[in-house]
Amino acid sequence: MIHLENVSKVYSNGTEALKNIDLDIQNGEFVFIVGPSGAGKSTFLKLLMHEEKATFGKIIVNGYNLMKIKKRRVPYLRRTMGIVFQDFRLIEKMSVYDNIAFAMRVIGKPEKVIKKRVKQVIRLVGLEGKDKRRPNELSGGEQQRVSLARALINKPELIIADEPTGNIDPERSYDIMKMLSVISERGTTVVVVTHEHDLVNEFGGRVLWIEDGEIVSDKFIPTKYHSKEPYIDNTDNTDKTNTEVD
Ligand code: ADP
Repeated sequence: MIHLENVSKVYSNGTEALKNIDLDIQNGEFVFIVGPSGAGKSTFLKLLMHEEKATFGKIIVNGYNLMKIKKRRVPYLRRTMGIVFQDFRLIEKMSVYDNIAFAMRVIGKPEKVIKKRVKQVIRLVGLEGKDKRRPNELSGGEQQRVSLARALINKPELIIADEPTGNIDPERSYDIMKMLSVISERGTTVVVVTHEHDLVNEFGGRVLWIEDGEIVSDKFIPTKYHSKEPYIDNTDNTDKTNTEVD
């Protein structure tokens, strides 16, 4: 769950990148973030990942109050999310298998457990038989699937995708978006920043339009992929989350 209350971000040079944002994103929602360059989209993602801290307001992500979180707890917050980048960010000298397994090894999971989970996510993203290849032996679309598998490996509550189709051809872009859509249907929250309006219209779901640091539109576009309005729970449960965290 993502909860922002009156959130503003002012960078040290005085730029007000986000202004008084109030927003709730429920578990399992599929949300597109769109808007012109410089609107504040990346800043919004950086706040969610706690790469930047809000200047004012309150942010709760997956039960962590990001205005109060202690430095030593940040890795635990990050484990609740998987990130997909436009430029894939795979480790070139590692095989597909090792790139995907890496985040499980880091947290000390046994190899047997890793093997089973890697096999599952490789199947989920359709990369069977390619696990021994290096990233430079794969197409852009395939590399993005590896990065999606890597994002999913630790069963995150939230997937954040920053222009995930920016470096791949249109047909493969569609495949990646479809996978993200399936992932959200299985209960993972998916937040995608994109400028690809055709894909947004095709896939629909909740679409937040950000302009000049403000959410100027928050709409639900029904499509064959997202036909049901998400359930929005307006009850204030922030106090509960507050007590569980730092
Ligand atoms: P978008 O992702 O929509 O293109 P950004 O979040 O990157 O927008 O930027 C929002 C505004 O904040 C822009 O005016 C940008 O120049 C400014 N900005 C972004 N990062 C920084 C930073 N580290 N320091 C100062 N200003 C920044």
